[in-house]
Amino acid sequence: METPYRLTYQEKALTNILLSIFYYNGFEKRKLPKIFESDELITIEIVNEWIKKTGLSPDDLIFPHNKDNVANDQDDKDNIKKYKYVIELLGMYFPATQSITLYTKRIEEAAKGLNVSTDALRQVVLLHEIGHWITHKLHYNRQCWEIAKYNSASTEVHEGWAQLLAWWVVKNISKLKRAFDRLNKEQIQQYHVWVEFKHSTIKSLLVLRELESPTKTTWESCDKHVAQNPEKSIHSILIIMRGENTGRELNIAN
Ligand SMILES: [Zn+2]
Repeated sequence: METPYRLTYQEKALTNILLSIFYYNGFEKRKLPKIFESDELITIEIVNEWIKKTGLSPDDLIFPHNKDNVANDQDDKDNIKKYKYVIELLGMYFPATQSITLYTKRIEEAAKGLNVSTDALRQVVLLHEIGHWITHKLHYNRQCWEIAKYNSASTEVHEGWAQLLAWWVVKNISKLKRAFDRLNKEQIQQYHVWVEFKHSTIKSLLVLRELESPTKTTWESCDKHVAQNPEKSIHSILIIMRGENTGRELNIAN
């Protein structure tokens, strides 16, 4: 069952730290999205849906990865048990409704498996999901990430930014950093991309939000152009990128 979730005092503080980085950089203040909690556990249907959506192999989703006893198990019940640690399903941001759901029971189970505190893991998951919402809905110059462009971005781009934003907050709080690291260690490849973008800036995100179907390569290109043109506006950087690529490689919209 899904019910409205009330942030704890600590969760409010963490959310404010993350938001303040964006407000400092000129983003417009905005009310937090609707946040729900769900006590739903993992079912085979949910796992199958996820596999279909992501094109991943079921083995990618098992925690811990490469567990020996997994391959030949036929029993459905056992399968559900194995999948209860699916890390990618601890929280979800829904761009269509701009809401967040925290799967609190799954977080509890995963925290045991990861040997971290449930509170710390829930805070990490929350920051990651708020990260998705910030990249999508926080306005800069009255613009957010237009939904068609948002949906066209690759999973690596979405998960990379959400992880990076969470990391900006957790890196200085040892308890959270530990939970983040332990969780990340068990996550699939798309959740590790952020490591290559530790030097990305908010300006790079603003450039990226203007592009069609951005991938990891597009993100690299944004970073490069932002670093090379520190004094130039987002608009000017987009013009430079358009000139270099004639809009073909990067699918830059007019
Ligand atoms: Zn995510």
